[in-house]
Amino acid sequence: MIDTDLTPLMRQYWEIKRAYQEAILFFRVGDFYEMFHQDAIEASKILNIALTSRDKGKPNPVPLCGIPYHAAKGYIAKLLQAGRTVALCDQVEDPKLAKGLVRREVVRLYTPGTLTDSELLSPTESSILAAVVGTSGLSRHGPPEPIWGLAALELSTGEFRVTECTGTSSLDDLQDELVRLAPREVLYPADLAPALHASLEALSGARLCVQARSAFDAETAEALLRTQFKVASLETFGCEGLTVSLHAAGAVLGYLRETQPAARLDHIRGLEVRRLNHTMHLDAETIRNLELVAPLVEERRGQSRAQRTLLSVLDRTVTVMGSRLLREWIVRPLVNIDAIQARLDAVDELVQTFQARVAIRTALRHVQDIARLSSRISLGTATPRDTVALLESISVLPEIREIVAAAQSRYLQEQAKGWDDLADLQALIDKAIRPDPPVSIRDGGIIKEGYDTQLDELRKACREGKGDMATLEMEEREHTGIDSLKVRFNQVFGYYIEITKANLGRVPGHYIRRQTLANAERFTTAKLKELEDLVTNADQKLNRLEQELFEQTRGHLALHTGRLQAMAQTLASLDVLAALAEVAALYQYAKPEIHEGGVLSIQEGRHPVVERLDHQIGFIPNDALLDLEDNRLLILTGPNMAGKSTYLRQVALIVLMAHLGSFVPARSARLGLVDRIFTRVGASDNLAAGQSTFMVEMTETAKILNCATPRSLILLDEIGRGTSTYDGLSIAWAVAEFIQDRRHLGARTLFATHYHEMTQLAGLRDGIKNYTVAIREEGGEVLFLRKIIEGGADRSYGIHVARLAGLPNAVIRRAQEVLAQLEEPASSADDPLIHQEPRAQPHTSNALPSPHPIIDEVRQMDLFSMTPLDALNRLAELQRRLEDIVAERKEV
Ligand code: ADP
Repeated sequence: MIDTDLTPLMRQYWEIKRAYQEAILFFRVGDFYEMFHQDAIEASKILNIALTSRDKGKPNPVPLCGIPYHAAKGYIAKLLQAGRTVALCDQVEDPKLAKGLVRREVVRLYTPGTLTDSELLSPTESSILAAVVGTSGLSRHGPPEPIWGLAALELSTGEFRVTECTGTSSLDDLQDELVRLAPREVLYPADLAPALHASLEALSGARLCVQARSAFDAETAEALLRTQFKVASLETFGCEGLTVSLHAAGAVLGYLRETQPAARLDHIRGLEVRRLNHTMHLDAETIRNLELVAPLVEERRGQSRAQRTLLSVLDRTVTVMGSRLLREWIVRPLVNIDAIQARLDAVDELVQTFQARVAIRTALRHVQDIARLSSRISLGTATPRDTVALLESISVLPEIREIVAAAQSRYLQEQAKGWDDLADLQALIDKAIRPDPPVSIRDGGIIKEGYDTQLDELRKACREGKGDMATLEMEEREHTGIDSLKVRFNQVFGYYIEITKANLGRVPGHYIRRQTLANAERFTTAKLKELEDLVTNADQKLNRLEQELFEQTRGHLALHTGRLQAMAQTLASLDVLAALAEVAALYQYAKPEIHEGGVLSIQEGRHPVVERLDHQIGFIPNDALLDLEDNRLLILTGPNMAGKSTYLRQVALIVLMAHLGSFVPARSARLGLVDRIFTRVGASDNLAAGQSTFMVEMTETAKILNCATPRSLILLDEIGRGTSTYDGLSIAWAVAEFIQDRRHLGARTLFATHYHEMTQLAGLRDGIKNYTVAIREEGGEVLFLRKIIEGGADRSYGIHVARLAGLPNAVIRRAQEVLAQLEEPASSADDPLIHQEPRAQPHTSNALPSPHPIIDEVRQMDLFSMTPLDALNRLAELQRRLEDIVAERKEV
C-alpha cells in the first residue's frame, strides 16, 4: 500500500496504520485527529460526521474525516460502543522544534478491557480484561486432566486476580467463573479447545482477542509478573502450585505493555489468588435462572430491565464502589459459617442502630470512586478535579470512623482496626490544590496561593507586569500628548502601541513600526518590549510551574496507592452492609439463623423480586421445609401459572441471600449451610424453546447429577418436557429417584413438574413429599390461591390457562369436550382412542396411566409460547385426526 507517490505525511500514516489493521487510527494533525480511507468511511458513519477527502482535485482523493483533538473521548466512546477499537496516534515531538515531518506514535490503544477514563467507563460496572489458557492442547505429555487458568484484571482499579480450575469439571468451572466475572475483553491463545471457544463466544458483550501462543509463555509470564510487583517470588501472593493461571496473568500484562505503551501500571500491585472453593460455586445457568444480576427476558411483561433482578432490589448502595462490590457478593456467596455470621451480625447492628446507619450512608454519599481515582493518580492521568474529588471523599473518613469504632459487631470492629483516615493525603491535596481547579492540567489556576514561593512570585510578576502595561499606556499618552494612544495585545504580534492615522505626525522617533492598518499604525518601543518579555515569560513559566507542581503532588499521592485501595475496599464493604441493612429495614426482612445442620426451614417466605412488583392482591407468603431426612425431595405439582416457579426460586433466593450475608424476605428462617445451588429450568420456560433444547436440558441435568453433593440445594423446574410423554416422564422419574437415593446423592431438592404421575413416588420412596399450589374452583373458574400445601395435583388445568390466555370460547368449549372424551374411563381396551402400547412402569409395579398420543400432544402443547391462532390450528388438526380415527373405526 505504501506507494512512492504518497506525500510524506501519508507515507508516515501507512507505516503506522500497518501495525493497527483492526483499530480505527486517530491520526493527530494539528488540532485534529484525522481518519483516512476505510477508517474514515466507517468512522464517519458511526460518529455521524462529514466524510470529505484530502487532495480533492487529484484523481484518487483520499477519504477523510476528522474531529477536534480535545473532543476525542466522546468519539472514542461511540466507536467502542459500536464494537470498534481506537488507536490514538499523537505527535510525540513539539511541531515547532521538529525538523521536517513531526514524529508520530501510537500512544494508546483503546479496547473495552483496558479503559481507565471516567468518560469511557460505566461507574457501577466493572470493566474486566481477562485471559484464559489451558493445558489441553499444550503438550501431549501434560497431565491427564486439563487444567484451566484464568487471569482477570480491572485496570481501572488495579484489582488483579487469578483462578485455576482443575479436576474433571475444570472446563465447566472455568466457564462459570467467566460468566460471574462478565469480562469486557478476553485474551486467548490460538489453539484454545473448541469447547471453550464456543462458550467464549456466548459471553455477551465481550471482545475476544486471539493471541499468539507465545504470549502465554511460562518464563515470560514469571519475569513480567515479578518485575511488575517488584518481588523475588510470586509465593508472596500465595501463588505456589499455580501454573496456567500465571501464564494467563503474564498474557494480560504483556497485552497492556503492548496496547498502553505510555501508561504507568504501578497501581497493579499484586495478585489475588481466587480459590473457587472459598465461595459458593454458582454456575452460569443458576446465575441466569435466578435472575441474580441480569433478567432472563428483557422487558418481560413491561417491567423494565432494572426491576427484575435480585441486584436491583438489594442495590441501595450510595457509592459506585459499593454497587460494584454488591454484584460481587451476590454472584459469590460465602460458604464459611463464620464469615457469613460476621456479615449478618454487621447488617443486624446497622438494622438496629438506625442513626448509625443513616449517618454512615449520609457520609458515604460524599465518597466518590476512590478505587478508580487512585488508579488514575497512579497512571498519571488524574486531573486536578480528580484530586479535589479525592479530597472530598477523604474528608468524611474521620466521621465514618467514629461510627464504625463505636460498633459492637466483629466485622465492623475489624474495619475500625484497619482504619486509615488518610489525613496526610488530605492535607497534601488541601495545601496544594485550589478547591475549584480547571479540568485540564494545562490551563493554570490549579495550585493554591502560598504553596510555593516561586509560583507566588511569578504570579505577582504577571500581575505587576500587566499593571505596568497600564502605567506605560498612561505615561506614553502624557509624553506624546496623544489621548487616543492604546497599549494592546494580540496572539500574533504580542503587545503593541496603536496610534490612529490622524495622530501619526506626533509619533516620537524612538517608536519602531510593526504593522500598518487602514486607519492606524502599530508600534513598539524598547521599554514595551522589555516589559512584554517579562509578562509573557512569567505567564509561560507560571503555567509550566503549576503543571509541574500538580504532577509532583499527584506523584506523592501515587506513592500511597496501596492505602487508597485498601480504604476504597473498606468503604465499599461498609456501603454494601449499610445498604443490606437499609433494604432489610425497608422491606421487613428477617435475620436468618445459619447453622451446620441440614434443615432449611422458612416461615412465610417471599420472593424478593416478585413481591416488589405491583400486585393487586399482594404477595402471598409461603413456608418451606427441607432437610436431609424425610423432607429431602419435594415434588411440586399444580396448574400452570399457579406459582410453582416463583416458589422454587424464592426458596433458592432466600438461601442465597443468607449466604451472602443479607437478611431474607421471610418472617423467620433457619438455614443449614449449602455448598452449591443448582437450577434447571424447563425448556418451555426459556425463551429459546425448540426441540434442540432437549439436548441442553439433558446436558444441564447431567451436570447437576454429576456435580451436586448431599450439601447442595437443587431446583428442578420441569424435567423432560422437550420430548414425548413416555420419555419425559421416565427421565423425570429416574432423575428424582437418583436424587432421592442417598447412595447416589440425597441432596435437598425442589422438583416442580407437570407430570402429576410423579406424585406416586412419595408412596414408594422415603424422603419424598408432595406439595401442590392451592386453587379454588368457582363456577367453572379456577382461582389461584398461591398457597403451597401438602398434596398432589390430579390434573393440569391446561385448558383453563388457555382461557386465561384468550383463546376463543368456541375453542375452549371444544377442547373441554375433547378432553372429556379422552379422559372417558369407559372407553377401554377395544377403543382405538385409548392407546394400546405397553404401559410405562418406571421401576415400580404401580401402573402409570398410558395416554393416547393425542392426549399427549394436547398435554404437551405449550400454550404460553403459542399465539391463539397457532392453538386454533393445532386444535383443528387434532380434531381432524380424531375424526379420521373414528372414520377408520366405522370402516372396521
Ligand atoms: P408456574 O411456575 O406455576 O407456572 P409462576 O411461578 O410463573 O407459575 O407464577 C405465575 C404468576 O403468579 C407470576 O406472574 C407471579 O407474579 C404470580 N405469583 C406467583 N407466586 C405468587 C405469590 N406467592 N403471591 C402472589 N403472586 C404470585
